[in-house]
Amino acid sequence: MTSAGAYERTASERLRSARSLQCRICLAEDEKQNLISPCKCRGTQANVHVSCLSHLFEIMNTTTCQVCKEEYVMERKGLKAWREWSWPKPLSESWEDELDFRCAVLWSLFVARMFYMFVARGPTEMFEKVSGVLGDGKLYNFWWTSFALNMVYYSSILYSVVDNWIAANSAYSWKDNKGKNVK
Ligand SMILES: [Zn+2]
Ligand SMILES: [Zn+2]
Repeated sequence: MTSAGAYERTASERLRSARSLQCRICLAEDEKQNLISPCKCRGTQANVHVSCLSHLFEIMNTTTCQVCKEEYVMERKGLKAWREWSWPKPLSESWEDELDFRCAVLWSLFVARMFYMFVARGPTEMFEKVSGVLGDGKLYNFWWTSFALNMVYYSSILYSVVDNWIAANSAYSWKDNKGKNVK
């Protein structure tokens, strides 16, 4: 290959990279209109795909840019199509959270059964059934006390699990910052 040919090739490559920008998350080149600048980062770090930003948010669970510390401005657009939904997950991968998650699921099945008994057969029969197993003494009171405590504890876990699930299964739109910060 002649040196003129080599020069032409690098020139056309330069032209191509001047026209298309790179997404800093997936590193793919793309047209300007497919990318947004959600934060104060400039230059090669400025541009991202909306879908890449949403994916990053799902993994990292943060709306702050790791580089410039600017908060991304995002808007929740309701839930994704149900085919894309994921299963609810424990709050973290630690064994305590995994255990809490499993217990919370069992607990909600148990409460659903209690609730069914309460609605279908009335409160009297439900209380009688519990005292039939535990008697009327200390054990009975202890059981209802721990029932109330479990209710509070597992409700707060289920609340966080559902909250995370909604965050992970929502569609988002992200605000482009280009106009705001470029003078
Ligand atoms: Zn991308
Ligand atoms: Zn940034």
